[in-house]
Amino acid sequence: MDYELPEELRMLQQTLRRFMYDEIIPHEREAYEGPELKPEYREKWEARARELGIWQIDVPEEYGGMGMGLLARVVVWEETGRTIAFPRRKAWIFGHDVSPILLQFLREDQKEKYLWPVIRGEKLPTIAQTEPDAGGDPAAIRTTAVRDGDHYVINGMKRFITNGNKADFIQTICVTDRDKGARGGISCILVDADTPGIEVLRQQETMMDDRPCEIAFTDVRVPVTNIVGAEGDGFKIAQTWITFGRIRHGALGIGVMERCLELGAEYAKQRVTFGKPLAERQAIQWPLVDIYADIQMMRPLVYKTAARFDAGEDIRYDSYLCKFLGDRKGFEAADSCMQIFGGMGLTTDFPIEKLWRDMRSMMITEGPEEVLRMALARHVLNEYG
Ligand SMILES: Cc1cc2nc3c(=O)[nH]c(=O)nc-3n(C[C@H](O)[C@H](O)[C@H](O)COP(=O)(O)OP(=O)(O)OC[C@H]3O[C@@H](n4cnc5c(N)ncnc54)[C@H](O)[C@@H]3O)c2cc1C
Repeated sequence: MDYELPEELRMLQQTLRRFMYDEIIPHEREAYEGPELKPEYREKWEARARELGIWQIDVPEEYGGMGMGLLARVVVWEETGRTIAFPRRKAWIFGHDVSPILLQFLREDQKEKYLWPVIRGEKLPTIAQTEPDAGGDPAAIRTTAVRDGDHYVINGMKRFITNGNKADFIQTICVTDRDKGARGGISCILVDADTPGIEVLRQQETMMDDRPCEIAFTDVRVPVTNIVGAEGDGFKIAQTWITFGRIRHGALGIGVMERCLELGAEYAKQRVTFGKPLAERQAIQWPLVDIYADIQMMRPLVYKTAARFDAGEDIRYDSYLCKFLGDRKGFEAADSCMQIFGGMGLTTDFPIEKLWRDMRSMMITEGPEEVLRMALARHVLNEYG
């Protein structure tokens, strides 16, 4: 497996890097408000992304997008990871957020109602898997969908749902057969957000500026035709969404490490204490070298994993590694950088405190480290010893 990027992706990387440093990073602090990009920045940067020919990157060519493979998306995520301009989880300037679930699993009639409007930017989707008693362990979900004639009746509670207050429809993960559990008892159902019985109970502030919602489902009636795939496919479908997310975490982590290395090295060279620049002290050099070493380790791992996915291979276990190492190493880089900056690292004059908050949060969202290690432990014990 060749870990070097192909020529066209190296060109994409250079274009994106110039875009980030020349046009986005200079405005990164004022560009967003909470989890949203301010409209004036969104419009300007989206127009520029179109001009650069980097638009609808997730969307297959047959639907009018660029149909980029995962490796190409890794390049985009890595470069955007350098800046705090984009609220870490959702805001995006390279086309509308079309989830892999909608692209891969919908029937033609469902595509008309749900996929196409999302591609055109007319509808916003969200996905609701997490519940008060089921986060890291999604097999524990309790929200039920019970068949009643040609409808499902959904009851339950979802928590931490990003865009839960704005979405037009909810990709809802629920139990259709309790006895089968995660092995064929969980389904994914598309639920229009204005269906009677859906209530957004509250939005929660978080340290990463995201504001996910708690949503109650009370006797929500949905046509059985809104099921995605077959009944019982929900767990597998949700895992598809999460696998992409794990690679994204790995790529963003590399971008964060790169930025922290640049900031840390620059500051260490110019900041003088006890008569010498910080850069001349071993205590400051070593954390910079650690960040450098982590980048050299992470890049081949993430590129290789994405390339293997594009080649149709099973990347499950490597995707766990990409996520927990990307988050952890990205956080450690932000933490070291903060220490090098001293008090200035805590201020909003620099992006470090935001990178630090974001990366600490990423270690929990979309699958916390312990749960990923648990899954990897099964693999390791199967393969070794
Ligand atoms: C800002 C934000 C946005 C989110 N957006 C969405 C969304 O759009 N849709 C959605 O469905 N979900 C979303 N989530 C949910 C997110 O994916 C979960 O928070 C995450 O999976 C962790 O679940 P939990 O918080 O319930 O932790 P828990 O499962 O309660 O775990 C708590 C801690 O214990 C550890 N732990 C758990 N089990 C074990 C074990 N067996 N051994 C050792 N340690 C263990 C965990 O790793 C974790 O550190 C979002 C969360 C946040 C904070």
